[in-house]
Amino acid sequence: MREGEVDDLEVDHDLSDANTLALPSRAARFWRARTEGEVVQGLQLANEHGWEMTVLGGGSNVLLPRRIEGLTLCADLEGVSFAPGRGNAVHVEVGAGVGWHALVESCVERELWGIENLALIPGLAGAAPIQNIGAYGVEIADVLDWVELVDRRDGRRYRLDREACELEYRDSVFKRELANQVVITRLGLTLSSRPAPKLDYGALSEHVAAPASARDVFAAVCAIRREKLPDPARTPNAGSFFKNPFVSGIQASHLLSQMPSMPHYPQPDGRVKLAAGWLIDQCGLKGYRQGSFGVHDRQALVLVHFGGGTLEGLLAFADQIVETVHARFEVTLEREPRWVGARSIG
Ligand SMILES: Cc1cc2nc3c(=O)[nH]c(=O)nc-3n(C[C@H](O)[C@H](O)[C@H](O)COP(=O)(O)OP(=O)(O)OC[C@H]3O[C@@H](n4cnc5c(N)ncnc54)[C@H](O)[C@@H]3O)c2cc1C
Repeated sequence: MREGEVDDLEVDHDLSDANTLALPSRAARFWRARTEGEVVQGLQLANEHGWEMTVLGGGSNVLLPRRIEGLTLCADLEGVSFAPGRGNAVHVEVGAGVGWHALVESCVERELWGIENLALIPGLAGAAPIQNIGAYGVEIADVLDWVELVDRRDGRRYRLDREACELEYRDSVFKRELANQVVITRLGLTLSSRPAPKLDYGALSEHVAAPASARDVFAAVCAIRREKLPDPARTPNAGSFFKNPFVSGIQASHLLSQMPSMPHYPQPDGRVKLAAGWLIDQCGLKGYRQGSFGVHDRQALVLVHFGGGTLEGLLAFADQIVETVHARFEVTLEREPRWVGARSIG
């Protein structure tokens, strides 16, 4: 198959508007695959030419270099279908290219429960299992049944059930053993027609009066998020730039003896999860700006790009935050957005 034989293959494609951090980036070749067959075709093309392949969704959780060589592919499969299951269960099948927020909205309109707390998370459905998206006490792990994939090595299509996806806090098999080895094409979720509001996280219960509909919870989540988080369309960002860190019980006790008001969440395995945003805020960094990048003035977990910056500049800025937090608390923050096309940085 020759490059020119593939319809819609864009050469030297500008990705600056295709990543919510608005980092300047260009893809040597870019292809929107609309079917599983086209995903396989893309893989074949990359293999035949020896091109490195990069998979991109909505670009809301990636750090893009100036140029991505090889082939950048977006699995843009459409379609959402609903089928009744046992009792109150409703099975939802969704294409990887469906916008996550649009999916949440269409489920809420049907009064289906399960993902209303995950409203306004940017990006496409296909990327949702990669870091097990979560917000307001709910993760996609709570509703995911299966993920359909194309194996990048041999084009084989197969299904992984939830167990095999090994979903954990901001983590999954797709960031570990299967990192850069599969393209997710479809997801299966099970939602419920029986009301099951989850309001025990953050300020959600203060915003929703009982009895609440799925739409009420959805509207409350949207309102809280709009108040707290910068809109990437106006202020480029990638959401939480750092993961909430886990520390040992001993270290948590030590920190709590110095700062009794420190938010902390004991885990079943004895570790304690801390709030990265709170730690950054305690270092006086909320609203801190240097050059093109800054810490958001309402949510210290979010780094924002004021324009004119590059990936290298962002990484240097983020390193400063990590070092400052480490010097004060001896806690190491890990980055959440994923670095793609790394070999072609330049
Ligand atoms: C303002 C803002 C708020 C956010 N809030 C939250 C939040 O509350 N909770 C949360 O969990 N996240 C949040 N995020 C992060 C982000 O929205 C999610 O991680 C989202 O799932 C990323 O989707 P995407 O389509 O943009 O993926 P991308 O950023 O394009 O890609 C992310 C990773 O997934 C891979 N990938 C993408 N699609 C596929 C596919 N089909 N097959 C295989 N690999 C693929 C990419 O190679 C990359 O490694 C937020 C981001 C922003 C900008």
